[in-house]
Amino acid sequence: MTSSPIGLFGGTFDPPHLGHVAAAKRCRDALGLERLLLVVANDPWQKSPSRTISPASQRLAMVALAIEGEQGLEVCDFEVARGGESYTIDTVEELEAQGYRDPWIIVGSDLSATMDTWERARDLQQHARLAVLSRPGSPLELPEGWRAVALESDELDISSSMIRQRLAQGADVSELLPEGVIRHLGDHDLYSGQG
Ligand code: ATP
Ligand code: MG
Repeated sequence: MTSSPIGLFGGTFDPPHLGHVAAAKRCRDALGLERLLLVVANDPWQKSPSRTISPASQRLAMVALAIEGEQGLEVCDFEVARGGESYTIDTVEELEAQGYRDPWIIVGSDLSATMDTWERARDLQQHARLAVLSRPGSPLELPEGWRAVALESDELDISSSMIRQRLAQGADVSELLPEGVIRHLGDHDLYSGQG
């Protein structure tokens, strides 16, 4: 049994960008987390009907590269290993089985109003705490019913959609991505056909 708090920062990470890394570091420091897991969604069921998602193996590899050398940040493959649609409550229960209680779920402020649509939201409210991080364009508000904190951050106006769109147009994205992800995309042509 461990008492040290753990954080879960879930996402599609298609691709992971500097906004994700800054957000993770901010939460690690503000919440005093020894471990912050970047949880790569296998099938992000709220997104997959509307666009093609890059293979999970590619997204896992890119997240590992994005956080290389960052203390306390780890890539987590639980949802990819489980397969199927990805639900945070299943990941929370998997961590409980390892002795982790009341993990922090970390989301950007664009998602805070969606929390009640998450699978088994009531169970999640009871089994996890919520940290909402400011993100450009979305007010920093806390949803009702959650044990939640708001974290201001140096807001970086970066999104994976913006990066996919720019790459499809052949535009430069080197200032938006960690070095390792830039190298990976040099070797794997993931986004040139999208727009
Ligand atoms: P997309 O544009 O494809 O939705 P995204 O940039 O929003 O991609 P996601 O993988 O959807 O990235 O997001 C994972 C998590 O990271 C979410 O909680 C999201 O709010 C948060 N996040 C993403 N970008 C930022 C950012 N620039 N600042 C703060 N939080 C962010
Ligand atoms: Mg998003």
